[in-house]
Amino acid sequence: MIVALDEERLENDLLGGQLSCACAGRLAPWGHGRTRVVRQLDRPDVSSRPRRVICTSCRRTHVLVPPAALPRRRDAIEAVGAALLKAAGGHGHRVIADQLGLPPSTVRNWLRRARRRAEHLRGQAVRALFALGGEVSDIEPRATPLADAVEALGLAASAVVRRFGWTGTSPWRIIAAISRGLLLAPLPGG
Ligand SMILES: [Zn+2]
Repeated sequence: MIVALDEERLENDLLGGQLSCACAGRLAPWGHGRTRVVRQLDRPDVSSRPRRVICTSCRRTHVLVPPAALPRRRDAIEAVGAALLKAAGGHGHRVIADQLGLPPSTVRNWLRRARRRAEHLRGQAVRALFALGGEVSDIEPRATPLADAVEALGLAASAVVRRFGWTGTSPWRIIAAISRGLLLAPLPGG
């Protein structure tokens, strides 16, 4: 699975032979995955068909996850991000669901997964921040592990914007890429 920031850039890179597999082999187009509908926060739903690709060296196939979505989630990354921010600020899942117009069970499920993953996410953010030359000491300690993770991910996303000049890109798309699309994934064995 490969998470992309920008659909057009992704397509150009793919067709230009510039995307590579974990084995360093070149990735080539390999049809499309199933069409999925991604629910947006303040806009109409968007449907998209993720690209499938195959490695020309090890022959493994991958799905290119569209930048606005998380794997196997119905909602846009911005909706998940807004909920995580509010949770980091101390709100409960019912209040957040009400504010965002989402089912409480959906928000509760996101928060549960993100809380289980918080330490791991913070680690990914710290590594990204360090690799980008950011100051790890800028990460302020927060009240909960989830708030710590959100704080670190935000700083890492800012470092990406500063380094690559991606000022128009939604920070949560950058965060999805930093966490390799695994913002809400179960931990191995959990
Ligand atoms: Zn490969």
